Amino acid sequence: MTKISATTKSEHNSEHLEVLAIPAFRDNYIWLLRHGQMAVVVDPGDAEPVKQVLAEAGLSLAAILITHHHADHQGGIAALAACYQPVVYGPGAESITGLTHPLQGGETIELAPISASIRVLSVPGHTRGHLAYLMGNRLFCGDTLFGAGCGRLFEGTPEQMASSLQSLAALPEDTEVYCAHEYTEMNLRFALAVEPDNPAIQQRVADAAATRARGVPTLPSTMALEKATNPFLRCAEPAVVAAAQAHGAKTNDPVVVFAAIRGWRNEF
Ligand code: ZN
Ligand code: FE
Repeated sequence: MTKISATTKSEHNSEHLEVLAIPAFRDNYIWLLRHGQMAVVVDPGDAEPVKQVLAEAGLSLAAILITHHHADHQGGIAALAACYQPVVYGPGAESITGLTHPLQGGETIELAPISASIRVLSVPGHTRGHLAYLMGNRLFCGDTLFGAGCGRLFEGTPEQMASSLQSLAALPEDTEVYCAHEYTEMNLRFALAVEPDNPAIQQRVADAAATRARGVPTLPSTMALEKATNPFLRCAEPAVVAAAQAHGAKTNDPVVVFAAIRGWRNEF
């Protein structure tokens, strides 16, 4: 478990929350939000490490937030529900057992036990009902946006994913980005192949290597950093357009560029 941050100065309503990264499986993070003795977890693919952290810290689990139906994000619902009876939010459009509050996107939900209000964003592409959760300036985006990358298009179209990523990129620059996987270094190798001369990517490669050498998550990142280094948020940049055109894009249309870059990433 890694203690991530206690936001210092913030006008947002989530500043009282402490956020912990609970590593799971090979490279998943289950994010735990804590206020006093109450906790909320995002995407508990595995119940065991969550139960361990809750027990060690003497916390009660008030709610679970699910971004999408893949097992590494929701496989722990039943075991956690049996122990703690949390409310369980997630995409109603996907087949997920145990949701008590199915969502569409567009809602605002109040989590009184941790005194937080959360905006629910619809971000289809990786899956067709994928949701993201925005709590003050903290964005929990599952497998839609990764550090320097984005999720694979398992169910959605390039149009949907490009539009979902654009809606996230429109959030304030200081938005903290909490992704569900530690893929940053792998993604940066690809980002550098797309834009070898981008100094922000070069710097992030060095920073991520140093962070991982200390055994610390590279997340959260910030939206400003993603916009400077993430090729999937840079589909209008001339260097990215040129790289996409060398990998099959026939025009400079941002969706065409996105689709070509995403296809290249799949083979990379
Ligand atoms: Zn997934
Ligand atoms: Fe995943």
